[in-house]
Amino acid sequence: MENDFENTTISLYGTVPDSIVDGPGLRYAVFVQGCSHHCPGCHNPESQPAEGGTETTLAALLADIRANGLVHDVTLSGGEPFEQPEACAALAAALKREGYGIWCYTGYLYDDLAGRTDPAIANLLDHIDVLVDGPFVESRKSLELKWCGSSNQRLIDVPATRRAGSVVEWQPASFSLEKPSNW
Ligand code: SF4
Repeated sequence: MENDFENTTISLYGTVPDSIVDGPGLRYAVFVQGCSHHCPGCHNPESQPAEGGTETTLAALLADIRANGLVHDVTLSGGEPFEQPEACAALAAALKREGYGIWCYTGYLYDDLAGRTDPAIANLLDHIDVLVDGPFVESRKSLELKWCGSSNQRLIDVPATRRAGSVVEWQPASFSLEKPSNW
């Protein structure tokens, strides 16, 4: 299992070790390469082609995340993390074992992902605290939104949603009072 992790690679568009815009607080942001949604007005159009990313081992990426001792939360973004579900799930699982909080951005809807039969997708969902779901919709773009680009996108408390069996939205105001349910 450890060898699988050591040898698994992820295709990256880039990383930001000290992001303050990809979720609350100081976070390590992982931007994967490749996204098939092709949203008009995409914030990272260079991340859309499946080719051209930097192939990195999960072990090297995890070591880089650990090296920033000030960061306790990680955001998976892109690109489309759910188009590299095995690698993202393995990374998220390793991070959760070490106590990191995980946010993930996706152009898919939660309901679509939750209905998939691919075990890697279920495994990735199992390790996400907050999922920001849905494509970027230019006509619903708003600069007032703190952690998403358009008003159709939802901040979903994934553990609470999986317990309830229906979408439970995460409320930003709750961050200072209590963390999402499995933190
Ligand atoms: S889902 Fe995100 S990365 Fe993909 S095309 Fe839409 S805005 Fe760009």
